[in-house]
Amino acid sequence: MKIFDLQCGAGHRFEGWFASSEEFATQKEQGLVGCPACGVHEVERVPSATRFNTGAAQPAAGNKPEGPQDPLGLAQKLYSRMLDELLTKSEDVGSEFPAEARRIHSREVPERMIRGQASEDEHAALIDEGIAVTRLPIPPAKRWN
Ligand SMILES: [Zn+2]
Repeated sequence: MKIFDLQCGAGHRFEGWFASSEEFATQKEQGLVGCPACGVHEVERVPSATRFNTGAAQPAAGNKPEGPQDPLGLAQKLYSRMLDELLTKSEDVGSEFPAEARRIHSREVPERMIRGQASEDEHAALIDEGIAVTRLPIPPAKRWN
């Protein structure tokens, strides 16, 4: 059952109850729909201003933007994964790191990924020599030795 807001040619507004839009069209065509106030059969549907005004539609569930709610947590996860990669694919040369890095740089030994310890000064010296080294903060859980 549908309730239509109707208005006759004279401007009277009233409600009409119909099974469907088609039913309304049929009844109107047959002159069965008349204004209860004046009996005029020239009636038209008018937009309902009140009956269907139920307020703003609720946003659909699950419509939230995809993505991490915790960007910092995600960054830490990615960093941890990257460290795992580096730690498993690099050779631990320990305190030999600065010397070994130089040997790799000068091609005395095969090029490979190495990791190890270097002091601030050693690190700075390696950078000065144009040797690509990176300091990575290693969480305690991942420290070797
Ligand atoms: Zn009327």
